[in-house]
Amino acid sequence: MLVRSGILTSADGDAVAVENVNADGAVVLVCEHASSLLPTAAGTLGLSSEALSSHIAWDPGALAVSRLLSAKLDALLVHQRFSRLVYDCNRPPESPAAMPEKSEIYEIPGNRDLSVAERYARTAAIYVPFHDRISAELASRAAAGRPSVLVTVHSFTPIYFGKPRAVEIGILHDTDTRLADVMLDGAAEAGRFRVERNSPYGPEDGVTHTLRLHALPAGHANVMIEVRNDLIANSVDQEVMADYLAGLIADAVSSVGRQ
Ligand SMILES: [Zn+2]
Repeated sequence: MLVRSGILTSADGDAVAVENVNADGAVVLVCEHASSLLPTAAGTLGLSSEALSSHIAWDPGALAVSRLLSAKLDALLVHQRFSRLVYDCNRPPESPAAMPEKSEIYEIPGNRDLSVAERYARTAAIYVPFHDRISAELASRAAAGRPSVLVTVHSFTPIYFGKPRAVEIGILHDTDTRLADVMLDGAAEAGRFRVERNSPYGPEDGVTHTLRLHALPAGHANVMIEVRNDLIANSVDQEVMADYLAGLIADAVSSVGRQ
């Protein structure tokens, strides 16, 4: 018996999606929280439709902005097709946040007391193929002598535990600050949005897993971008934000390339 069977069926499709496969640009975009979709076998996880469409299930607007960035930067885009409620691909399997029993104000009944076999099945079906694909793309680029710059794209909720968040864009990094430093300088110069370093949370909260897994060991310049989701709630605002971010990213990539 395959333990992973029963999580994803052929009707659900693949866990990972890749767009702009033949992109020429140096940037590789990753969107771990692109979708609120649940595999059929997961049901509703015991959640209301309000919870299932909220920020606990996905990063609203993040995939739309990622797709615009992919076009503007001619960048490969890898995104997860299923909700982070089933498996949060920006967390390692040993983290309680990978399959959370609670997220902000919501209890998640379908994630309560998961057995080792259930945790393994979700990891094997959702997490492993996602990160294997990113590894494979980065490896094939390296083999072809092409540089890669890893940029992960997220959105965050404007109100968390009842408190409004003033920061509009977070530029997050782990131990490699090269790209983030230049982007933060560029943002300060532009003065257009309230942009902050490692905000509204940072590496101490365990949010740099994808960067740590794929970029740091190989020395790829990298950054994680967090956009407050009320700023990317419609296609006009998404276009404005993607334009702004594409400018910051492109300048930072060329600056780091010159170092
Ligand atoms: Zn996210």
